[in-house]
Amino acid sequence: MTATNPFLGHSLRHPRLSASEAAEIAQTVFGLEGDATELGSQQDQNFRIDGHRGSHVLKVANPAFSPAELDLQNRAMEHLASRLRERVPVALRTPDGRDVVPIDHHGEHLHVRLLPFIEGTPLRAFGYLAPPVLGAAGELAGRIAAELASFEHPAAERTLQWNVRAAADVVAALAPEVRDPDRRAMVERTMERALETLASGASALREQIIHGDVNGWNLLAERDRAGRPSPCGVIDFGDVSQSWTAAECAVLACGVAEHAPAAPLQAAVEIVRGFHAVMPLEEVEVAALPALIAARAALSAVSCDQQLLLAPESEYVAESFEAGWTRLVTIASIPFPLAHAAFREACGLTRLTRPMPVATAAMIEGVPARAVSVDLSVDTDALAFGSWRDPAAIKRVVEADPQAVAIGRYGERRMVHDVGPELGEPATVHLGIDLFAGPGTPTMAPLAGRVTRATGQELLLSVQDGVTLRLAGLEFRWTTGDLIAAGDEIGRVAPVAQDSRLPAHVHVQLVHGAVDDPPGLVPASIAAAWSAICPDPAPVLGLQPAAARTDSAATLGRRRRFVATSQILYYPSDPPEIERGWRQWLYDVDGRPYLDVVNNVAVVGHSHPRVEAAAARQLRRLNTNSRFLYDAMGRFGERLASLLPDPLEVVYLVNSGSEANDLALRLARETSGRDGVVCLEDSYHGWTGATNELLHPLHDRVLALVKPNPCTGQHRDDPAALASYARAAVATIERRVADGHPPAAFICEPYLGNSGGVTLPDGYLRAVYAAIRDVGGICIADEVQVGYGRLGRHFWAFEQQGVVPDVVTIAKATGNGHPVAAVITTHELAERFAAKTDIFSSVGGTPVSCEVALAVLDVLEEEHLQENAVRVGDHLTACLDPFVGRFDSVGALHGIGLYRGLELVRDAESRAPAPAQAAAICDRMRSLGVIVQPTGKHANVLKLKPPLCVTCDDIDFLTEALELTLDAGW
Ligand code: PMP
Repeated sequence: MTATNPFLGHSLRHPRLSASEAAEIAQTVFGLEGDATELGSQQDQNFRIDGHRGSHVLKVANPAFSPAELDLQNRAMEHLASRLRERVPVALRTPDGRDVVPIDHHGEHLHVRLLPFIEGTPLRAFGYLAPPVLGAAGELAGRIAAELASFEHPAAERTLQWNVRAAADVVAALAPEVRDPDRRAMVERTMERALETLASGASALREQIIHGDVNGWNLLAERDRAGRPSPCGVIDFGDVSQSWTAAECAVLACGVAEHAPAAPLQAAVEIVRGFHAVMPLEEVEVAALPALIAARAALSAVSCDQQLLLAPESEYVAESFEAGWTRLVTIASIPFPLAHAAFREACGLTRLTRPMPVATAAMIEGVPARAVSVDLSVDTDALAFGSWRDPAAIKRVVEADPQAVAIGRYGERRMVHDVGPELGEPATVHLGIDLFAGPGTPTMAPLAGRVTRATGQELLLSVQDGVTLRLAGLEFRWTTGDLIAAGDEIGRVAPVAQDSRLPAHVHVQLVHGAVDDPPGLVPASIAAAWSAICPDPAPVLGLQPAAARTDSAATLGRRRRFVATSQILYYPSDPPEIERGWRQWLYDVDGRPYLDVVNNVAVVGHSHPRVEAAAARQLRRLNTNSRFLYDAMGRFGERLASLLPDPLEVVYLVNSGSEANDLALRLARETSGRDGVVCLEDSYHGWTGATNELLHPLHDRVLALVKPNPCTGQHRDDPAALASYARAAVATIERRVADGHPPAAFICEPYLGNSGGVTLPDGYLRAVYAAIRDVGGICIADEVQVGYGRLGRHFWAFEQQGVVPDVVTIAKATGNGHPVAAVITTHELAERFAAKTDIFSSVGGTPVSCEVALAVLDVLEEEHLQENAVRVGDHLTACLDPFVGRFDSVGALHGIGLYRGLELVRDAESRAPAPAQAAAICDRMRSLGVIVQPTGKHANVLKLKPPLCVTCDDIDFLTEALELTLDAGW
């Protein structure tokens, strides 16, 4: 084959013109004046010409390409330019109408063309490509293929090194030239595998003219509103030729692997999904795609090697050389059957049914008769308070029933491998069944088979054509090639490995098709595809198949159907289903942990055992309404009073922050006999009628003061000018009083939690409180979000301003998520209010609520969580403060302690709020294992208010995730 191979015959060494020669050609041939700069190219020579008529590209074709091939490219560009909304270059013509022009360069006959320079950044220059970006790129590749399907040209059937259709010949010709023997072996093995798949199906693949090189170099993108790349153009038509339709998709799916080395298949799936949506792939094409992608990766790796030999000095070639080999390594690691299953799912094709082997012998005594499933998933009730990380606790669960053989379920999303949040998606989905049995337990072969691998404690048995049984956790004496009969003792259960959380067990897994290293656990995002090739091995063990858990789509469907849409969701388009919390972590239904940066409600951490015990104990004893006398209510009132300065000592207990503020406003209005309330603009104090009116004043009884904002406000960066906020506020109040409307009250957060943790200017509340009190008004401090020790150096936010309010409202942290809230005021005000009305809130301050609230205060104190807020908050400052200035999009780090806000702006100069970016950044942070959400008037401030048990390590993790996001894009 090598002797007749066309790719060895001609070297694709590109022409060698100087920049000044290029500039001269542009002028003499096309009448275009300008300076020339060389651009990279594998086989041609390209120059950017910048002059008063804008920017153009002079393309000097490799002499290996005929004028007809260059015409093919020009016509293909024209064809697409008129059909795509994205930018496509169209060759300019000389005054006499030619768009391919022969020239003589030192005796060499070359052809030149002039194209407009297309603005945009190559997609590959954007580090991270989010799933919707990949989908959009796949869709553009699909539209290119769809439009080119109607394009014809006599030169289309050309021999081209980069055509996937020619990959077998190219690799055969060039692989022997690869200098590194490991690389050579890998590329040959990859191509061999691809050819095996293509041997049967290639003749059925649709053919047409394709662009042939739609990849990250040639797709141009611009940032959209959210700061994500959005494909806006396609360039470089040098590889246009007749090929397989599916190759257009395969080239891009191969190319994006370098953007997602940890999850290349998930990236390819997004490309295929996008492509298929506009250019539906046929079933045979979907089946061929894994091989086409691998063939493309092999082809480009060997071609890069060859180009490096030809042009060792070219930076462009050197860069693409290493990228080509890295991509091949990544792609070669994806089993074809897995990719096929994933692509079928992406294209909405049904799962392929496969023959299932059925048990012919029992594996372990007692199975199936005494088999009992144990729950090691996120739903387990047997493991709590982090005990899923404790091997002894797991052992107790597994051994709970001494008569039973415990079974670890197939398809289970496991909690028991939890090590806390990680940047990458953890492998949590179990692809086999675990049979728990003591070390040394005899184990029989359930089926006859031939040993295809015997390493360590893992045995692979070929049990049927294309079906492998994987057994792990066994001690045995087999070697590859041995034949085992059903019912033979296959080995004995191995002792537990030191690093294993699970007690001794045999892992039983079925594998369909050629998969070198089948994993026992896989990430949830790729679990459906894996389950197509590793189906439930229950029949092999004589067990009933595992019941599937309700999936998150059904959970979401039910919520959308039966719960008001105005009860909004975080991540509304694709909310994670969160089913467990522990300390500062939240766990989704797949068992993935996230660092919870948003939950100030769970102030002492999720599922705190002290809080749970207090609630459970009191629920067993008594829970009733507050018109009965019981001790807990007075004890909690006394405890709250002890935390507040004099004269704040009388408590009303309700259920939410909204109610607390509503009651505080009523107290002020009824005791003063006035109606007017002063607040800060854009301030949320609750959803009740009276509190909602503060956010949306419809009536002039609400006076909203300008809210101080040191980052984007009019006095930003000027401490002296910040003081003017207080002066302006006082003047506004005085005007209102002069108009004959002295207010009943002033309400605000003494530290602006809902703006993202903004500290009020020094002296602000002193001035405003004085102005309000001067006219007999009442000062209400809404400590619902910001009180309770979160600020670290202050238990109450009003302390930071050096004031004592007349009324304080608390909620959220008060019950660590249990609905208990309070209004605290002075005796004098409480007596005046009591003279007007009684207050009865049925389940405000129940015995359970009060015990929970007392437990929260105990934990805060005993675990020194306020001190932790100082220490960890200072660490947060040290980690994130440098981001201001380092990243253009970070405008400010607000706040103190563990109530912080990272303000995202469009650029450092304008500091215009960047809400779309903030939302996209939160999505990216979620994919990296951090739950964070925007807040503020413009929803552009990331609120950082984790449970107070958060550690410096967690802040390091947050910093790492944020840095990666801001550096590599979102
Ligand atoms: N006040 C402030 C400052 C708040 O942030 C909130 C809730 N975000 C409330 C009051 C209302 O509290 P709840 O949701 O418990 O009704």
